[in-house]
Amino acid sequence: MSRIFNFAAGPCTLPLSALEEAAAEFVDYQGKGMSLIEMSHRSKEYDAVHHEAMDLVRELLAVPANYKILFLGGGATLQFSMIPLNFLPAGSSCDFTVTGSWAKKACEDAAKVGKVRVVYDGKAESYMNLPDPAALDLDPEAAYLHVTSNETIGGVQWQGWPDAGDVPLICDCSSDFMSRRLPVAKFAMLYAGAQKNAGPAGVAIVILREDMLERCPDTLTAYLDYRIHASKDSLYNTPPVFPIYMVGKTLKWLKSIGGLPAAEKLAAERSGLIYDAVARHPDFYRCPVPAHCRSLMNVVFRLPTEDLEKAFVAEALAAGMSGLKGHRSVGGCRASVYNAMPVAGAKALADFMGDFAKKNG
Ligand SMILES: *Cc1c(COP(=O)(O)O)cnc(C)c1O
Repeated sequence: MSRIFNFAAGPCTLPLSALEEAAAEFVDYQGKGMSLIEMSHRSKEYDAVHHEAMDLVRELLAVPANYKILFLGGGATLQFSMIPLNFLPAGSSCDFTVTGSWAKKACEDAAKVGKVRVVYDGKAESYMNLPDPAALDLDPEAAYLHVTSNETIGGVQWQGWPDAGDVPLICDCSSDFMSRRLPVAKFAMLYAGAQKNAGPAGVAIVILREDMLERCPDTLTAYLDYRIHASKDSLYNTPPVFPIYMVGKTLKWLKSIGGLPAAEKLAAERSGLIYDAVARHPDFYRCPVPAHCRSLMNVVFRLPTEDLEKAFVAEALAAGMSGLKGHRSVGGCRASVYNAMPVAGAKALADFMGDFAKKNG
């Protein structure tokens, strides 16, 4: 078997132990003569998997008792609809920070449901910068304030949070969820598609302060109503059982290496190796994102020409490093270094960058 270093932005590399455990028990789960994905979601085997994964989210992120944890289908993208449908009543308005393509999608969906005020739009800087969170002009009457903690395309990541006062702060933390500690009590809601740091695609993890449920209107169909999922522990309908099972395995691995404090240290180390490689060859590489908001998850960088970028991506692949092409909308190169990327992978990339610059600079 040869696993390569996979720098893809998502879906992306997962811990080898999680993959191997799942492979070993896939066909015959705990001697039951069937796979977990062939069992009822009401079975005691699945119930244990479901609640173990939920408990790990609560434990690792230190989620207070007055927050519900939900596992929902539809990815983070369904949350772009569910949030305004539940929390943006007619006659009110919400505040949005548009920091990149994910925030923009969330904002556009909210604008189809109700009134949206954009308090920051990074478009003029091609979404490669973030504002000072303390300098935002916020509406104290807003139904909520929505932020996106990390943008995978621009490669920007909030390092501090706006003080929204009594306004519910809602955060899409899909691409850095479980990579750092969060002051959960500052947020009314956190949500994340699992497929970056927390598992495979197919499940969104929602952490919702219980009092928010009082705001849900009675007009919604069942699946769109957070109250239904909260009251049934995300077992109202058949949940995405396999993704949830893999989230459990991924978080068990995370716990075994030291949880979020360890994840933070490793994220700084991995991204630091690559940013340093850029800084060591300033005539060859450049990072378009200012230091104060550089992502520790998605490191974007440019080479002198697009032809060199193409050659870089191809030669890196031949050397065992895949997924380094920047997003098609912005070009350039991007190394996504989520939790499961070994430091050795970032080191291999940094060494390769040095060699490539010497050869072609
Ligand atoms: C990856 C990502 C998404 C997309 O989530 P889906 O599960 O594909 O809907 C949304 N928001 C952010 C910030 C992301 O990084």
